[in-house]
Amino acid sequence: MRRMKSCKGNFSASSYGAGCRCRGCRDAWAEYGNEQRTKERKKRPSAGRRDAPLPEHDAFTREQIMKARE
Ligand SMILES: [Zn+2]
Repeated sequence: MRRMKSCKGNFSASSYGAGCRCRGCRDAWAEYGNEQRTKERKKRPSAGRRDAPLPEHDAFTREQIMKARE
């Protein structure tokens, strides 16, 4: 039987991920999960689109082509 890993008092989400299931690590893991959910909620839809090429330009160009075909 495999022995359960212990964090040896160093409670953290990563210790929980490593296999420790002591109370301190479970609490840290729950807290970590809450933090991640809060971060997700705080993210704005426009964030992270800065490096994308301008889609407006492409759409405008296509529109011009469609108009030119008429
Ligand atoms: Zn632990």
